[in-house]
Amino acid sequence: MSSKYEIVMGLETHVRIKSKTKMFCSCANALELASEANINVCPVCMGFPGMLPTLSSGVVDLAVRASHALRSVVQETSIFDRKSYFYPDLPMGYQITQLYQPVAMGGEVKTMVNGELRTFRIHHMHIENDAGKLVHSGGKTLCDYNRAGSPLMEIVTEPDFRSKDDVLGYLEELQKLMRWCGASDADMEKWQLRCDVNISVRLQWETKFRNRVELKNVNGFASIGRAIDAEYTRQVEIYEAGGTIDQETRGWSDERWVSTPMRSKEDAMDYRYFPDPDLPPLHLTTEFITSREIRELPIDRRLRYLEEYKLIDDDARILSENIITSNFYEELVNITKDPKKSCSYITTILFAIFESHETKLSLTDIKAETKEIARVIQLVNADELSSTNSKIVIEKLVFEWGQADSWVDSLSLRQKNDLGALESIVDAVLAESQAQVEEYKSGKINLFGFFVGQCMKKSAGQWNPKIFTDIIKKKLPN
Ligand code: ADP
Ligand code: ZN
Ligand code: MG
Repeated sequence: MSSKYEIVMGLETHVRIKSKTKMFCSCANALELASEANINVCPVCMGFPGMLPTLSSGVVDLAVRASHALRSVVQETSIFDRKSYFYPDLPMGYQITQLYQPVAMGGEVKTMVNGELRTFRIHHMHIENDAGKLVHSGGKTLCDYNRAGSPLMEIVTEPDFRSKDDVLGYLEELQKLMRWCGASDADMEKWQLRCDVNISVRLQWETKFRNRVELKNVNGFASIGRAIDAEYTRQVEIYEAGGTIDQETRGWSDERWVSTPMRSKEDAMDYRYFPDPDLPPLHLTTEFITSREIRELPIDRRLRYLEEYKLIDDDARILSENIITSNFYEELVNITKDPKKSCSYITTILFAIFESHETKLSLTDIKAETKEIARVIQLVNADELSSTNSKIVIEKLVFEWGQADSWVDSLSLRQKNDLGALESIVDAVLAESQAQVEEYKSGKINLFGFFVGQCMKKSAGQWNPKIFTDIIKKKLPN
């Protein structure tokens, strides 16, 4: 990349809302492709004359949760507008969207980009319904309306992105946020999250933005990266050759790695937006809005794990990635008060067990209660269980239910820390090993391990080697 030019980008991202029904009717919401075309349709989403849409409360619920995740201000009143145009995948002849008064205004997404905390501002978020899907096959085009009327959120950012890594970092965080609040699985492969990238370039020292190009149909992280690189190069080459960039919409082809013009500003469509007379304004009560607030987001936890718990960045990221892992970790720390060990029991011990199992497991597959895993950590910290043996107990808890303490006892793994009893074992061992004691005194200090080993042997491995070590140290001259 030539360093003379800076890239400036803003994103318009569509996220499929995970509600049970479509936005304005009771048809099943098309979260994935249905087994058959046109099975989830009804007169409302097919736009039959005289049918009245009714806004689904499930959609509003999730949209408000998502707004909180974006730290947006949820509007007490928002309005639905009709965006009219003809296309075979749009049976109603218009899309129901929110142009003038969207449901959420402002907001921000914070994330780490290359080890640095970045903030990307959200302009607004609105909700709208989706179109159907055209299937081109055998020289014919078929219409599948299963998706028509399914709910989408459109999340529009300010032009705050200055690199490909910014964009990818934002999208990853957005995906986490949508899963965190439960509004969407935001799976790119299933088209649950797709985005249009607005791109302009300017000289590094310029203060104003130049004309932008909107790139449509960019799907998948890798493809977005390629599209950004190609568009940056294209615009820089045009400016370098003395040309200008007009505001236009281009389509990205991930097969050919080029973008081609779709429409310019001049032939922008006139959608004849106007408030939908079939739908009253959406009024939300303060109670409805505030009861859906989300106190901590993944990034808040990630930063807390870094700053308060002093975890390394990789661990902080992994433990705050999704709400299940994060809540599990929080519960462990609550009980054990040991953030570091709670982390390593998840990221090394539990994840290794899950990984090595033939069907991949996760934290939700653990048979025992979370507090029992915490108890294992407490036992290790109290020297009642060795860390080697703790793995055996953890496996039992993962696969067989039960309590940490009962496993420790039934497997005879509890280390005894009764000092008097331990001391008499040490005395006996030293008395029996006179020859070695003499050698040790004359300088063969690596015999120390031998004494510890003898003590462990005598106690059938049930006692704590650390305490043996301390006692032997006291009894043998240095
Ligand atoms: P419009 O009203 O024409 O849709 P917006 O101002 O709403 O335009 O911007 C649409 C998207 O384009 C937003 O994500 C915004 O951040 C981004 N954007 C606006 N101007 C620029 C620019 N000069 N360069 C890059 N992105 C831009
Ligand atoms: Zn329907
Ligand atoms: Mg706009």
